[in-house]
Amino acid sequence: MSFVIGIDGPAGSGKGTMTKILARKFNLIHIDTGITYRVHAKAVLDNGINLDEKDKIIDLAKNIDIQIKNEDNIDKVFLNGKDVTKDIRSKEVTAIVSQVSSIKEVRLVMVELQRKLAEGKNVIMEGRDICTYVFPNADIKIYLKASLEERARRRYEENKQKGINTSYEEVLENIKLRDENDKHKEIGSLKVAEDSIVVDTTGLEIEQSVEKLTKIIEEKMKKL
Ligand code: C5P
Repeated sequence: MSFVIGIDGPAGSGKGTMTKILARKFNLIHIDTGITYRVHAKAVLDNGINLDEKDKIIDLAKNIDIQIKNEDNIDKVFLNGKDVTKDIRSKEVTAIVSQVSSIKEVRLVMVELQRKLAEGKNVIMEGRDICTYVFPNADIKIYLKASLEERARRRYEENKQKGINTSYEEVLENIKLRDENDKHKEIGSLKVAEDSIVVDTTGLEIEQSVEKLTKIIEEKMKKL
């Protein structure tokens, strides 16, 4: 049996930053499910597959090897043995990932992998559908949100730090598009689970968000 904290929310809502800090604080394994979809999207690009070649995209999902190794609290990501940690954050991958991850059969493969990654472990798992689909019985469920402009600003700053060259407008448009795609998936679409606690991180410093989430988790843990 695993202990699962699920953290859902759109791009830039603070999931990545929060889950990494909270994992350390509560001694949990951190799993970023977006990685699985990003690796697959990278493989689609590497293989020169067009977005309308649905069968090839599904076939690829079933036949790639995805490995995630946590080293010093950094996820090293491997696609068929090759380190793609940096490549999966590229503009090109980010541009297609929500479209490719909308395909039901692709999601079924990735969800199976995500559940396997959590098997027998105590985890904090971030994504879009953790509390609604991947682990509907998660022990603690949280949904993070923030205004579109703030999410775009955060992602723009993050990209700058990582050496990814994108304008603020480009980031804003990509996030808008991904929000739309992510909300309208056949399975596992982005939505608030009935029993999730919603936290708005707009205008909050990282420490303030951490404090809020820590309180929620501690309160919930007392009742488990
Ligand atoms: O979290 P991140 O922005 O890295 O996720 C990349 C994309 O993967 C999202 O835009 C979304 O389309 C997809 N995704 C998903 N379900 C998840 C996690 C990510 O559909 N649980």
